[in-house]
Amino acid sequence: MQRSSKCSQLVECMRCRHGENLTTLDTEVVDHPSTPTDKDGERGTTELAERRQRYEALAGELATVGIIASGSLAFRSHRCGKANCACTANPPRLHGPYWHLTTKVAGKTVNRRLSESEASGYQEWIANDRRLRALIEELRTVAREVIELTLTEKSGPSRA
Ligand SMILES: [Zn+2]
Repeated sequence: MQRSSKCSQLVECMRCRHGENLTTLDTEVVDHPSTPTDKDGERGTTELAERRQRYEALAGELATVGIIASGSLAFRSHRCGKANCACTANPPRLHGPYWHLTTKVAGKTVNRRLSESEASGYQEWIANDRRLRALIEELRTVAREVIELTLTEKSGPSRA
């Protein structure tokens, strides 16, 4: 008795073959895991079109990103460093808290105190910058998929 897994695969293939001729078994043909190579090629083309569409959509989203700003915001108290200031007393009464923007300008780290309204502006602009970078990251991922699918298609799926 040799009942290996190959037996069941053979039964499935037989069912598949029947399905091509009998319309009543159509659903079984669709569900069958091993589709002929022609259909694989079709699926690849559809996937490529779908990925390209996704890329276009993402590229379109780029244009909707508003003003961007780099840097980070912090809301913190500080000591001014003046000798007789309350911030040096014990217990100390610190200044603030205030909003601070830390950013790099021409390679140099710059720290700037912001008003409440400036800070809310920067919150939005920094969020836009984060969204832009996330979009670019996703564009790169989808582009890689598009390229892979394009190259696979160019080299051709075993067509004699
Ligand atoms: Zn002080």
